[in-house]
Amino acid sequence: MNPENQFYRVYSDALRERFGEKVYKLPVNLPLTCPNRDGTKGRGGCIFCGEDGAGHETRVPGASVRKQLTETMVYIRKRYGAKKFIAYFQNYTNTYVSMDFFKEMVEATVMEDVVAISLSTRPDCVSEEQLTYLDEFQCRTGMVVYIEMGLQSANDETLIAIHRGHTVADFIDAAERIKAKGFILCTHMILDLPWDRDADILAGAVLMNRLGVDEVKLHSLYVVKGTELERMVDAGEVTLLDMETYIERVILFLRALDTEIVIQRIIGRAPKENVRSCNWNTSWWKIKDEIIKRMAERNVCQGDRKGIES
Ligand code: SF4
Repeated sequence: MNPENQFYRVYSDALRERFGEKVYKLPVNLPLTCPNRDGTKGRGGCIFCGEDGAGHETRVPGASVRKQLTETMVYIRKRYGAKKFIAYFQNYTNTYVSMDFFKEMVEATVMEDVVAISLSTRPDCVSEEQLTYLDEFQCRTGMVVYIEMGLQSANDETLIAIHRGHTVADFIDAAERIKAKGFILCTHMILDLPWDRDADILAGAVLMNRLGVDEVKLHSLYVVKGTELERMVDAGEVTLLDMETYIERVILFLRALDTEIVIQRIIGRAPKENVRSCNWNTSWWKIKDEIIKRMAERNVCQGDRKGIES
């Protein structure tokens, strides 16, 4: 077991518990879009979203789902000796497609040693028809279905400020329907949004607990070149928060979070290309180590203040 587990529920250990061994993600990037970019909900997207739709890390962009999975699988098998995999549709809104295309992309993941599928999406793009189909898919194939959904902030005013184009209520509605079908729900949260206060961070943790969210991915706010966020920073409309605030907010969030919730990421990572600033030019693992060091010094852990502040 990973020693970090005494402070928070570590993703790699949770995967091992579920699948019996280490499991690797195979990123799939499709040339899709998002209703917050194409004009349906908004134009230009969330203020932090780059041209790639918040996705990266694929070896064969533009290829078919099957080709992307196969090529990355060969590489990861050779490099890490991996045996089991999760097909991970990571960029844009992977449920913002026709039902026929949706079925086609999901069915293309049925391959030997692919034990799960993970679909990134947004709260206002999860239909009952898709969930019913995924339920049938999960029963038929035995593959586990993960749905990754961005919330970013539990404060509606902040969601407006970052141009999310959906509300907290939209998230609650989608989360309840996803959980009702028994899928694994992972939620993305940005903990250093300058519009949020500590109370919003706590409200986010309380919401995750109440909805029975299974996993969270925590990120800092990083600036991609050419985004609205970059323009706002340059114009002096936004001042980014410092690393100290991020670290303290992560600890605040974790302490209020149910111990069962898996921490898929405690700090995000971004590719160097196109990124103007990310994680205060500090390695993600150094920030993670500092969070753990402070939690150890204070003798605190995930969930030890759950229910106290809510
Ligand atoms: S919802 Fe996702 S893909 Fe759409 S604009 Fe926001 S970050 Fe980008």
